[in-house]
Amino acid sequence: MSDRPMRLLILDDEVAVGRLLVRVAERAGWEARSTATAGEFQVQVGVDRPDAIMLDLHLGDADGIEQLRFLHGRGYDGTIVLMSGFADRVLDAARELGTSLGLTISAIVAKPATIEEIEAVLAAIQMPDRTAAIEPDETHGAAPSLGPLSAARIDQGMIDGELQLEYQPIVNGKDRAVEEIEALARWHHPTRGLVMPNEFIPISEQDTGVIDRLTMWVVRTANEQSKRIHRLATETRLAVNVSAKNLRSLEFPDQLAGLVAELGAAPSNLTLEITESATTSDPTATMDILTRLRLKGFRLAMDDFGTGFSSLKALVNSPFSEIKIDKSFVANVLASRDARVIVKTVAHLAHDMGLKTVAEGAETQAVVDQLLEFGVDSVQGYHVSRPMPANRLDGWLSEWSAAGRRARGWC
Ligand code: C2E
Ligand code: MG
Ligand code: MG
Repeated sequence: MSDRPMRLLILDDEVAVGRLLVRVAERAGWEARSTATAGEFQVQVGVDRPDAIMLDLHLGDADGIEQLRFLHGRGYDGTIVLMSGFADRVLDAARELGTSLGLTISAIVAKPATIEEIEAVLAAIQMPDRTAAIEPDETHGAAPSLGPLSAARIDQGMIDGELQLEYQPIVNGKDRAVEEIEALARWHHPTRGLVMPNEFIPISEQDTGVIDRLTMWVVRTANEQSKRIHRLATETRLAVNVSAKNLRSLEFPDQLAGLVAELGAAPSNLTLEITESATTSDPTATMDILTRLRLKGFRLAMDDFGTGFSSLKALVNSPFSEIKIDKSFVANVLASRDARVIVKTVAHLAHDMGLKTVAEGAETQAVVDQLLEFGVDSVQGYHVSRPMPANRLDGWLSEWSAAGRRARGWC
């Protein structure tokens, strides 16, 4: 087992509190560092690769929820402790959100906390997560040799057939007909097993050549596989995820259009899903590229929508044709008043702007009913189907045919 101390990174804009937490953690054997701004924190996450993070939700310059999204985007797999002086309800909602993003929230601490409480929280992290959080060490345990994940290794994985696609349907809210099938990448790594996109897409994005090849590979593979599935080839569109890094190259629209023409497909049958944050990093160049993609006939969806209301304004003159409401809001639409207000407002505004709305992450019938009542057009989520490999799609589509839906009382 590695002897290096566990690393803790703290984000708290009250410098004195940060210092106190560092002292408590160091006494307990941690290597600890505190940061007071979101910018400093985000840099340090990359530098320190902390095993655990203590995050104050109420920050001066940016809220803690944004930091949870940032950690999710970075594929952070350590332990997170949330702290706040807010009411329990806010901490619970934040924990819910973090968990739905796939983050590990081990504890929530209501401030002010006693030193004993903090010690207990840190002690609880230390035991279960020690081996999981440290870098792979081939000399201990039964874990296989994992080898580093790198953009070059992902490139090789594509060539070696380790990358595969799964498909998840998006159904119309009115009659539950399948409108679109989203292709989602999976990496079947020979020693690590299944690696999910939240982990390997950010790594592939470190090399623009690799993420460009990956996106093209997804478009090619999804089109080739769907051609073999009659219903897919004739009745539904394909949706693929496009990375922010793809939108840096002015040649991207031409390259994509060239590939789609070579595959004998129509751009209007392909929806490009772009995450909301991706569209704000370099707005002018991004808008140029997005507009040209739209002019070439591709449909554009803003993915993971709901991270900032400023982007609603940005939508007014944008070339997007649909928005996908982030699953963190959808999942909480029954439990959280705030999530309900957001989903309802976004659905209304989108309609006024002539945009289609898709809600992703609908897991139950009750959630679907609520979404439709709010005027959401289409739904995607485990309640309809989990993502599935290509060879199960045909069977699923026939079961979901009009007759199948009627038999299940779906329409
Ligand atoms: P996304 O595009 O927002 O895709 C939806 C994610 O939500 C998928 O996760 C899907 O499995 C999950 N999901 C769908 N319904 C439910 C539900 O009811 N409950 C829950 N808990 N989750 C649900 P997945 O496949 O792990 O993908 C995560 C993200 O990785 C995607 O989010 C997308 O941003 C990115 N990604 C996936 N494939 C690709 C790709 O080929 N290229 C790029 N650039 N990004 C990709
Ligand atoms: Mg998507
Ligand atoms: Mg999404």
